[in-house]
Amino acid sequence: MILKKTQKKMLSSHFSLNEMIYSETAINHHIDNMPSETEIENLKYLCEKILEPMRQHFGVIRINSGFRCPLLNQRVGGVGNSQHQFGEAADIRCCDKDLARKYFDFIVAHCVYDQLLFEYNRCGIFWIHVSIKRDEKNRRMRIENYPAKH
Ligand SMILES: [Zn+2]
Repeated sequence: MILKKTQKKMLSSHFSLNEMIYSETAINHHIDNMPSETEIENLKYLCEKILEPMRQHFGVIRINSGFRCPLLNQRVGGVGNSQHQFGEAADIRCCDKDLARKYFDFIVAHCVYDQLLFEYNRCGIFWIHVSIKRDEKNRRMRIENYPAKH
């Protein structure tokens, strides 16, 4: 019952809590990847300020990784101070480099953000890492061609 309630909970018009906490690694390792109320508020802010405007412009967008509790973050090899742990960051799936470029440029032009990374790995997979803080001290820090360690 609790799980069903969680799955249905919407953070914004198009993004559900479930979508922002889903992780195969968490399921496989029985990690309870549930954010606190504050972290949920952070996720909502991220959805409203960045993901919804992107959804409106590009149509459906897919989230590879949103919230990660510290244990999950450790499991997936995330950096120690990762904003994923606070519900402030999302990794957006990109089917190719061109789309990743379009997402990146859209965020730069239309959104407030704290950190924006154009990431890729050795397998040629691209994704956009974007974060935002609710305290308005957003750094607008962007790094192009950020190689992931894994
Ligand atoms: Zn990320």
